Amino acid sequence: MVDFQLDEMQEMLRELAHEFAVDEIRPNAEHWDLDSVYPKEAIKAAHEMGLLNLHISEEYGGPGLGTMEEVLVNEELAWGDPGFATAAYATALACAPVITGATDEQKEKYLRMVAEDGALASYAVTEPGAGSDVAACKTHAVKDGDEYVMNGSKMWITGAGYADWFFVLAKTDLDAGYKGMSGFIVDANSPGLNLGKKENNMGQRCSDTRSISFDDLRIPAENLVGGSESGGWMNAMKAFDMSRPNIAAHATGLARAAYEHSLQYSSERQTFGKPLHKHQAIQFMLADMKTKIEASRMLTWKSASDFDRGVLNTESAAHAKRFSADTAMEVTTDAVQVYGGYGYSEEYPVARLMRGAKVMQIYEGSSQVQRMIIGREITKGL
Ligand SMILES: Cc1cc2nc3c(=O)[nH]c(=O)nc-3n(C[C@H](O)[C@H](O)[C@H](O)COP(=O)(O)OP(=O)(O)OC[C@H]3O[C@@H](n4cnc5c(N)ncnc54)[C@H](O)[C@@H]3O)c2cc1C
Repeated sequence: MVDFQLDEMQEMLRELAHEFAVDEIRPNAEHWDLDSVYPKEAIKAAHEMGLLNLHISEEYGGPGLGTMEEVLVNEELAWGDPGFATAAYATALACAPVITGATDEQKEKYLRMVAEDGALASYAVTEPGAGSDVAACKTHAVKDGDEYVMNGSKMWITGAGYADWFFVLAKTDLDAGYKGMSGFIVDANSPGLNLGKKENNMGQRCSDTRSISFDDLRIPAENLVGGSESGGWMNAMKAFDMSRPNIAAHATGLARAAYEHSLQYSSERQTFGKPLHKHQAIQFMLADMKTKIEASRMLTWKSASDFDRGVLNTESAAHAKRFSADTAMEVTTDAVQVYGGYGYSEEYPVARLMRGAKVMQIYEGSSQVQRMIIGREITKGL
């Protein structure tokens, strides 16, 4: 039987996240975005309420919940504000390859730091010359006694300015392509780690995005993720099976916010003697928004449920991420259309949501990359 009913605990968690979004996120979202304010205190408050990093197991101080519970919370946080959701989720993304590939000692130190102390972390894989094509990365680490010496640079790293530690993907064998890549946990205060300036992004401007560079950075060999070289690429990619349902949930929440604003506005604004939503062209636009949002949520839940049941969800997570990201862009664009001229002004929330939607089609694997993954999966063995 397929059951779309949430259980009591899941409903309570979703309500808690929704109330947090209403009380703590929505009242600040416009200011955070327009003034590029990193929502540090709100992230701390969300952590204290038990809304972040739900996938860290009880063994390491976390709540040990599933991806299904995480997507419920993440839809609500992004409904509050997509920039907040991205900023708050950066740590969970960095934890994913630690959960899937690290040694018990590494998990004990770095996951517990996040779960119990509210430490922040960043996932550092993309480089100035290597985004979609991760295997083209040039950052490298060379073993020197019981340390590695790392040189190179990373680009577009969410939360870099506030991270306590980084998951970094680097080549330990320059001639072995993606098979020569290893994962490292790098403490943020390590000498030789340099932060770039905060990027002046189009949207989600409260989220901190920066380049980082490594200049003869020394990393203890015990911080090689999993304790062995190579396998880093596979581990970093596996992290996406855990994270993409959550990014899909962010896109769903962001689209839902834009749709709800539009529905409300369309009942207040009158043209040609009747409310906007009485015009069939507008009503059909609202209907299409709602259908796409419902479909986004179902794909998101399916990919989260697959992950939690131990079913390989690479394809279902790609469907969810691609469809909901594209939906967020389409729905927010239509939301601006429903508002007319007022939608084009930052006085109303839909402009911020439209700017915030664009990056959903770019990060965590662009919409083109998701199609490449789906194409690879469906043509396997043909
Ligand atoms: C705000 C923001 C936050 C980010 N946060 C992080 C982070 O925390 N950690 C991290 O590691 N990275 C992060 N990224 C990086 C992000 O994952 C990359 O930007 C993304 O993977 C795309 O890489 P790129 O920008 O180099 O584009 P490119 O790879 O150069 O691609 C350019 C365009 O070409 C398309 N394209 C590329 N190859 C193909 C192909 N074979 N077929 C068809 N189309 C193709 C892409 O879809 C894209 O539209 C972030 C980016 C942004 C903008």
